[in-house]
Amino acid sequence: CSGCVTSAETVLLEAQSVAELTARLTQPGAVVVVSVSPQSRASLAALHGIPAADVQARLTTALRQIGAAAVFDIGVARELALAEAAEEFLARYAAAAAAAGAAGAAARPRAASPLPMLASACPGWVCYAEKTQSGGLLPHISAVKSPQAIMGALVKRHLAAARGWEPAKIYHASVMPCYDKKLEAARDDFLLPGTSLPEVDAALTTGELQQLLDGWDMGRLAELPPSPLDPLPGASRGNSGGGGNSGGGGNSGGGGGEEGWEARYCLPPGGGAEPPLHGAPGSSGGYLETVARAAAAALLGPGAGPAAGAPLALKAGRNPDFRELTIHPPPPPAAAGGAAPATGKPPRAPPRPLRFAAAYGFRNIQSLVRKIKLGRCEYDYVEVMACPGGCLNGGGQAKPRAGRSAAELLDELEAPWRLPLSRAARALYKSWVGGPPGSPAAAALLHTGYHHREKTALGTVGDW
Ligand code: SF4
Repeated sequence: CSGCVTSAETVLLEAQSVAELTARLTQPGAVVVVSVSPQSRASLAALHGIPAADVQARLTTALRQIGAAAVFDIGVARELALAEAAEEFLARYAAAAAAAGAAGAAARPRAASPLPMLASACPGWVCYAEKTQSGGLLPHISAVKSPQAIMGALVKRHLAAARGWEPAKIYHASVMPCYDKKLEAARDDFLLPGTSLPEVDAALTTGELQQLLDGWDMGRLAELPPSPLDPLPGASRGNSGGGGNSGGGGNSGGGGGEEGWEARYCLPPGGGAEPPLHGAPGSSGGYLETVARAAAAALLGPGAGPAAGAPLALKAGRNPDFRELTIHPPPPPAAAGGAAPATGKPPRAPPRPLRFAAAYGFRNIQSLVRKIKLGRCEYDYVEVMACPGGCLNGGGQAKPRAGRSAAELLDELEAPWRLPLSRAARALYKSWVGGPPGSPAAAALLHTGYHHREKTALGTVGDW
């Protein structure tokens, strides 16, 4: 990563340490909550040679024994982020299409939230964009908070209220694949409203979590028994992700018929066990996959896009870290062999193909940014990640030593793809957010903004 870190930021980052978390675990009255990312679970599984699906339950044992009040899987926050990203894309696409219609088909629309929409979950990329790019690029970045930031709000607002915990007494630590997440946790955009309290007090890397556990002689996860996962408030059982616990059986979303968003993002009531959510190849979050599938279904109609359960046909571009996907509309009925229905209206122009890409690593990011600035970027949505190979190659990951890579273990954990919202996440839209994905209530809670930031010469994110 190449954004520069200011001196004020350096102070905030140094406070996010194993020593600080250790002090909070032993501080009388402190309520320590730990949220673990799926990429960290995969990395720990590779390190310890245990199934990735077992890691969360063993971490719950270890962290509770050393004083944590609750341990969560960030997967549930990621599910909210994915549904929000897909809804934001559909809204941007509709606005761009309306602007193009008003200005004439040949005109390139200049919307407030333009296309291509660029993913916002990687703080290395967001930091780079804010500190090196002019304002023109920032509106392209998705307004959706990252899973870490959503988890912060979930813990300090919803969980605190449900458990009767005073937010000021909660110390919320996240476990993430990279050091850049510390910078994100320190952003003043992610303070508990009306206070100076961060919603994520410390982001520790996977390696730092292992160091913490080793310090308490709890680091041999393979030897620990599993513990039941901590329940999220408003979900019927458990939290999403780790160990396949996605909120328990039954439809916790409440009565009534299926609304549009539920049909788009949720398993039907009584739809059986939920397999864990599949991430995109490179496993940086599944944004491209979720946005592409939702857009194909909503904009191109049934029959467009990959079938449920089939993988995305991503095509490697100029290097393995740049991949593309084009989804064509299904052929019109006449071309498919049947006669077009006689409606008396002139036939509508067929929808255009949708174009998606994944751009990982700064070489690919710089090329993408150049094309956007020149108005020559043909994609509708791009999943942008700073690390070549995505989050599994994050600088904070533990190194595998059991003869299996973290990528293999994450594939095992997360295949096959499913609709993004588990019953637990769906229940959160009702019990916490107070509106469906893409609603004003969801935007108020789950979206953020980006600002041009000054950089100094103190060092680069990659130097930490
Ligand atoms: Fe962190 Fe790299 Fe993942 Fe970005 S791609 S969130 S910098 S690990």
